[in-house]
Amino acid sequence: MQYVDLNPADMTPEQIIARVHLYQNTYGVHTLVCSYTTSESHGPLVPIEQDGKVHLVCSGCDFIRHDIPMNVFSFIVDILHSSQEFMKK
Ligand SMILES: [Zn+2]
Repeated sequence: MQYVDLNPADMTPEQIIARVHLYQNTYGVHTLVCSYTTSESHGPLVPIEQDGKVHLVCSGCDFIRHDIPMNVFSFIVDILHSSQEFMKK
């Protein structure tokens, strides 16, 4: 198991957006969705930069989440590797 030690305060908006995409596309993590749906009908939240800060927006409604949960920055890299193994099967 390998933990990633990332501090969002030291990251550029571009790096944070890339990290959110990585998290949202990783099999096995709890995908971030808006609070108006319990299903995946609205799809995953999408990171956008606004005034130098990254927000998470829903493509299915006007929901915006202004904080990015820390587990996006600290989730286990091995989950990504196992997802790639999963996709091969
Ligand atoms: Zn929504």
